[in-house]
Amino acid sequence: MSYSHSISAEAAVRDDRPRSVLETDVLVVGGGAAGVAAAHTAARQGLKVLILERYGFCGGGAVAGMSGTICGLYLAHEDKTHAPERLVHGFVDQFIDAMDKRNGLTPPVRYGQTFTRVHEPQAWRESAEGLLAEQNVAVLYHAIVTDVLLDGNERVAGVVAYTKQGKLEVRAKITIDASGDADLAAMAGMATTVGIEGRVQNPTMIFRLAGVDVERFLQEYGEDSILPDRITKLITGLNADGVYKLPRAKVFLFPTPRPNELICNCTRVVGADGRELNPLIARDLSEAEYEGRKQVREYERFFKDYLVGCEAAYLNDTGVQVGTRQTRQIVGVQTLTNDDVVQGNKRRDGIARSPWPIELHSGQKPRLSWLFEDYYEIPYECFVPRQGESLLFAGRCLSAEHEAMASARVTAQCFSYGHAIGYAAALAINESIAVRDIKGEDIRLLLNRDGAQLGA
Ligand SMILES: Cc1cc2nc3c(=O)[nH]c(=O)nc-3n(C[C@H](O)[C@H](O)[C@H](O)COP(=O)(O)OP(=O)(O)OC[C@H]3O[C@@H](n4cnc5c(N)ncnc54)[C@H](O)[C@@H]3O)c2cc1C
Repeated sequence: MSYSHSISAEAAVRDDRPRSVLETDVLVVGGGAAGVAAAHTAARQGLKVLILERYGFCGGGAVAGMSGTICGLYLAHEDKTHAPERLVHGFVDQFIDAMDKRNGLTPPVRYGQTFTRVHEPQAWRESAEGLLAEQNVAVLYHAIVTDVLLDGNERVAGVVAYTKQGKLEVRAKITIDASGDADLAAMAGMATTVGIEGRVQNPTMIFRLAGVDVERFLQEYGEDSILPDRITKLITGLNADGVYKLPRAKVFLFPTPRPNELICNCTRVVGADGRELNPLIARDLSEAEYEGRKQVREYERFFKDYLVGCEAAYLNDTGVQVGTRQTRQIVGVQTLTNDDVVQGNKRRDGIARSPWPIELHSGQKPRLSWLFEDYYEIPYECFVPRQGESLLFAGRCLSAEHEAMASARVTAQCFSYGHAIGYAAALAINESIAVRDIKGEDIRLLLNRDGAQLGA
């Protein structure tokens, strides 16, 4: 077949479409958990809010990355006899209600020493859209932000995005970067950090396995979504014998709200040459996608061959993109330290709390360091950049040390961060306060009025 054709001089014109311009009070870049919560909260305060999202749906890591569950809601206990004890409230309660109405969430499912709730990605999309529509938040999908607009050196006045209509300029009183990747910090030339000396936690390609006899599977392996040590040993042995190439031996498998289905968090995406991949590098991110898909097939083969209940199972789908745990983080006015997490530090300016363990994905087995019957709090100023005006961050790109981030990044907390940062944007605009002058204590008060139960 030949595609030879000639382009006429008339057809080969430059793209001289005029830039479209929009104005809004609050601009939110990214419609993940943090972006949805921030936009919803700011709009509830009577502000005009716009979300720009590069995909055709909300959900980010939870939906495009198919993360699988809402972690970070429950206290952990050393002894496994405890019933689920919920610690985190606020915007996430509304989200859970919206998901429950759509049969989009399981009841609490055991995950080691704590619990999580498994979500269904279609219901996630619809729940976010339902909540945003109730508050008249405008959403532009398929809009990728490519640059920041600066007034002088310091004030971020909005962004430039690219849509199929051409370039779009959005001017905003307050801009919230909820891109997960702190993209705006990079575009504005602000200081950021990347893992430990540029090494980040490994990506994982999550997938759904259909055709599973979930009842037999649970009878054999129990209720814990972290599979027993005997499976870890089996994988290690089969790898050593050269039967399989399964780069992660500790696997997490969750029965979902749909029948006969498991969501599988088990791959550890490394390069073909065995090196850890960094999703901030375009070539690495592309390699992560195809290496991830190869691994998914290898795990599917292993599950069918060896796991009870999976004999007739088959791959349903993978995430829209490889799951990215960690990329860039901002350098904030305050930084959440590893000690803050390990010691369970509480703060008067805390705007979110987290009982989630340090869940560090690097090497063959993810490392879990539990916080038993305890939690830490995350201060507002972890979302306020040291440089720059009228700009806030929300979500996993918070200012945090490496291990602290491996705990603070999960979904329930990202909802809490968005909830808080939506209020910060509203205070900045409605009370004419610079974001750096807002007190975490004042936001905490507002969050408590919404039922966040952060304590006085
Ligand atoms: C493999 C994996 C498994 C996980 N498992 C769990 C789990 O079981 N439970 C749990 O609670 N958490 C889990 N997490 C963590 C959780 O999914 C994320 O930390 C959380 O989704 C982060 O939310 P966020 O809103 O900060 O960012 P994201 O979810 O990353 O959202 C960012 C949004 O911004 C958009 N965006 C990015 N750049 C641009 C741009 N330039 N222009 C426009 N839009 C842009 C993205 O498309 C995305 O929608 C997992 C993560 C991974 C990677």
